[in-house]
Amino acid sequence: MHQTHKAIGLLGGTFDPIHLGHLRMALELYQVLDLASVHIVPCRQPMHRKQPVATPEQRFAMVKCAIAAEPALFANDIEIQRKGPTYTIDTLLEMRKSFPGIPLCLMMGIDAFLGLASWHRWLDLLTYAHIIVAHRPHYQIPLDGSTAELLKTHLKEEASFIHENLAGGILLRPITALEISATDIRKQIAMGRNPRYLLPDSVYDYIKQQGIYSVGKI
Ligand code: ATP
Repeated sequence: MHQTHKAIGLLGGTFDPIHLGHLRMALELYQVLDLASVHIVPCRQPMHRKQPVATPEQRFAMVKCAIAAEPALFANDIEIQRKGPTYTIDTLLEMRKSFPGIPLCLMMGIDAFLGLASWHRWLDLLTYAHIIVAHRPHYQIPLDGSTAELLKTHLKEEASFIHENLAGGILLRPITALEISATDIRKQIAMGRNPRYLLPDSVYDYIKQQGIYSVGKI
């Protein structure tokens, strides 16, 4: 099926807080894959990990601060608005309705891709979107198991596939390695250290103003 619209990227995560690793990944994939835009989608209640420290509203506000000056990126509150546990498949179903006929690309680091088989209805994800996997240092591409099998059957080399088809392809792409983690940023703030240059100044200003991640809160 040939499409006429460029694909939209979706980068989900807890973003507790959003940092330059997330933002570089979004912008680099936007550019190399010639996407229409990248929606940054903070999840309300993640199912695979500890609950975030900042509230959903605070994490969404931090995403908005982070991308205010970058028109390629869009802060999407679709998961913040949906009550209850957050499942990516529900987000894709909603996005498919809002953007009929436009290819969707779920973007994730390879660390997230390695855990894909534990996601709710994971085998259905490729019915509604492509998956773009960003290489990160210290992580190996899966060689066996169900994720490796999925990769084998859906891997595409050419970026044109994601614009010409609504869903169903997996692309692997390298990105600039910025080994920044939100966990580390939270720890640094709790220890009274300055996390500047790991995240946008506007996000750090918001964290200070709201008193998020200070001692006793993480
Ligand atoms: P935490 O330390 O709290 O687990 P995190 O920094 O890993 O957080 P998440 O919100 O869990 O951030 O990640 C969202 C997405 O961003 C995932 O797909 C993850 O692979 C990716 N990601 C996280 N950190 C980086 C980074 N430094 N570079 C590239 N991608 C990243």
